[in-house]
Amino acid sequence: MTESQALLRLQEIDLELMRLNAQLKAMPQQKKLAAIQAAEKNLAGKLKTIVGQRKDAEIDLDDNEAAQLKTKDRVSEIQAEAQQRAQDFRGVRDLEAHLTALAKQLEKLEYKHRELEGNLEKLMKAEQNANDLAAKLNDERAVQQESYERQSADIMARVRVLAAERKAVLADISQDVADKYAKAAKRFGGLAVERLRGNMPTTCRVKLQQGIFGELMRGPIITECPYCHRMLVTEGALVDE
Ligand SMILES: [Zn+2]
Repeated sequence: MTESQALLRLQEIDLELMRLNAQLKAMPQQKKLAAIQAAEKNLAGKLKTIVGQRKDAEIDLDDNEAAQLKTKDRVSEIQAEAQQRAQDFRGVRDLEAHLTALAKQLEKLEYKHRELEGNLEKLMKAEQNANDLAAKLNDERAVQQESYERQSADIMARVRVLAAERKAVLADISQDVADKYAKAAKRFGGLAVERLRGNMPTTCRVKLQQGIFGELMRGPIITECPYCHRMLVTEGALVDE
């Protein structure tokens, strides 16, 4: 392969690689996978909050039950004391007042207990829902990933073939030309090299004046377009293809 042929082939390879990469990026699975990832991140934040609230709710419930036990113990103590002091009328009356207060306290604790239980139940349900959703997202991600890999297999195979050919083609191109190509490819979005067809470059399509054309044809085969400054292959300009 001559250097100019290799250069033109290199551009074809790179343009095809760009198209294939664009195809991979545009595959619907990629969008879905991105959406799933965002949803998973969002869900993980919510789940963390719910688990924190659920743990707090469990502690509140434990505290409430401990307070109830303590109150009930106190009631038993006072009842025992009241029996012992059965003859001491005033003392018993004080103890009964105390018992009444304790009973009210206990009632409040029991009421609060129901509220706390309801709260905990709600949080546990929310936690379960979040975990179910996480499992669903996980399944969906696996499905999309598998589908992406299956559908992109042909493209990836082609990418590997092109990458190998690119390496081979580069071996036929001098470092200087390869560097110029790399710069021009960046500047012109991949369309780095054009050819001459008659006196017209194939990409910018600005007709060359006769004098300039003659000069280019006498110069090196790989040169620069005087108009758009892409690399220009003059070889074959006068051959009808
Ligand atoms: Zn040009």
